[in-house]
Amino acid sequence: MHAKIIDGKAFSEHMVARIGEHVSQLKTQYKLTPGLAVVLIGSDPASQVYVRNKAERTKACGMRSVEHKLPAETTQADLLTLIDQLNNDPEIDGILVQLPLPDQIDETAVIQAISPDKDVDGFHVVNAGLLATGGQALVPCTPFGCLKLLEDQLGDLSGLHAVIVGRSNIVGKPMAQLLLQANATVTIAHSRTKDLPALCRQADIVVAAVGRPEMVKASWLKKGATVIDVGINRIAAPERGEGKFRLTGDVEFSSAMDVAGAITPVPGGVGPMTIACLLRNTLVAACRRRKIDLDIE
Ligand code: NDP
Repeated sequence: MHAKIIDGKAFSEHMVARIGEHVSQLKTQYKLTPGLAVVLIGSDPASQVYVRNKAERTKACGMRSVEHKLPAETTQADLLTLIDQLNNDPEIDGILVQLPLPDQIDETAVIQAISPDKDVDGFHVVNAGLLATGGQALVPCTPFGCLKLLEDQLGDLSGLHAVIVGRSNIVGKPMAQLLLQANATVTIAHSRTKDLPALCRQADIVVAAVGRPEMVKASWLKKGATVIDVGINRIAAPERGEGKFRLTGDVEFSSAMDVAGAITPVPGGVGPMTIACLLRNTLVAACRRRKIDLDIE
């Protein structure tokens, strides 16, 4: 068996193109340009790349991107003041604070300070609660992207058994909520789970969100299972030259290809979907705040 490779890059490009069409419609019909504010504290190279990508993609689909780059020694009070300004700025529809934050700043306090209706990361407790109770939430981008890929691949997910490996607030838990809403039967596994390979072998869908390179082996998979690899791990790649790295997921891709029915690659699978879903959330937030009823799929 040779698994189908789920092309998250192509899917996300299609999604971003559709978002761009919606943005054009908002501009013409409502004279509205959705705005996303991205806040970056410090000079972590990976965070700088993420923020640059987000800003470029935001502008490419016709939205306004506002970047706030603050020094590493920024105090929590100063950051909260900025968030308060953005919460009250009518031109700003989405606020994203790039994580991780420096040690002097309490991540939870910052996330909870963002107005829930501008919380395009979907991390605020109000949005987590709305998601858990079936309300109108802004949904965390990465798990929403995974759901989109799964629905595109499998159609109706009713009754399928999904095993999610990882229980973080940003991936594992919201992924479980989304799959439950889609009527899958959901098991969440974590570092204390007993006999994880046996559990995964029962799954029609495996979502790996662990942060451990190639942990999920082919022998853990049921034949034909759909595998979503959320992990992004940088590992040494001496074959590319001294000091070089490559990205790998949480699934041993090469061997999993022989057993899975379909699988996301790393890179090019879940990663591109995250930014597309961030843009989608910004569009959704802009419409909801103004009670504009746009049919955003
Ligand atoms: P966290 O570190 O917050 O959570 C990891 C989870 O994996 C925890 O629940 C942990 O269990 C579980 N875990 C760790 N080791 C094991 C093990 N040996 N067996 C079973 N479970 C284990 O990570 P995130 O959820 O933030 O991210 C997960 C991965 O996804 C990372 O590689 C990250 O880089 C990537 N990621 C990718 C994104 C994308 O856009 N594609 C976006 C966000 C994350 P416990 O709770 O018991 O400690």
